[in-house]
Amino acid sequence: MYKCTHCGVLACIDEHPESTPKNCPMISEGLLEDSFSEYEKDENKNFHIKSTEIEAAGYGQWPRVREIVEFSKSMKYKKIGIAFCLGLHEEAKILDRILVDAGFDTISVICKTGGTAKEKIGISDDRKVRPGTFEPICNPIAQAKLLNEQQSDFNIVVGLCVGHDSMFYKYSDAMVTTLIAKDRVLAHNPAGAIYCSNGYFKSKISDKQ
Ligand code: SF4
Repeated sequence: MYKCTHCGVLACIDEHPESTPKNCPMISEGLLEDSFSEYEKDENKNFHIKSTEIEAAGYGQWPRVREIVEFSKSMKYKKIGIAFCLGLHEEAKILDRILVDAGFDTISVICKTGGTAKEKIGISDDRKVRPGTFEPICNPIAQAKLLNEQQSDFNIVVGLCVGHDSMFYKYSDAMVTTLIAKDRVLAHNPAGAIYCSNGYFKSKISDKQ
């Protein structure tokens, strides 16, 4: 089983590595070659090159939102989809303005589109955030299909929930990037829990003490 997380050798960042760990995934030469034949496909080739170039172009200078704008310009995208969470409506509106100012057409779809009660998918009242009230489901498949219908060139996720984001990625026809990863506790900075995982957040990360 591969465990790059535990590797102290990092032969993969060495131009002429002297040795690799025993369980290094780089021993799978066939698989690595296969991934290059995928990069060569028309649907991936330019996308991969541009994403690699954008990393260097604004390295340490551009915030992620600027990287998304510059990347989208370099890909010559015209129509950008925004799939956003109700809880980040304001942030999505600001993103929309930034994209329009940069010359893009935008389409945006909120997570609650459809206004469908949670009961419809079998969620009982006691498993709602606020029992006794009407709570609509998040509807990531519809978000993706609505953006597909509008033929967005590229989609941006703004704060979709864990799992709902995965379904959006699965059903989106266009490639997707995430601007904001939702974290209701940490002002959408999930890395904060990792940084404090041995301290203040230890008891919040797991039930095990
Ligand atoms: S690819 Fe190999 S050398 Fe690189 S981190 Fe993983 S195990 Fe280590």
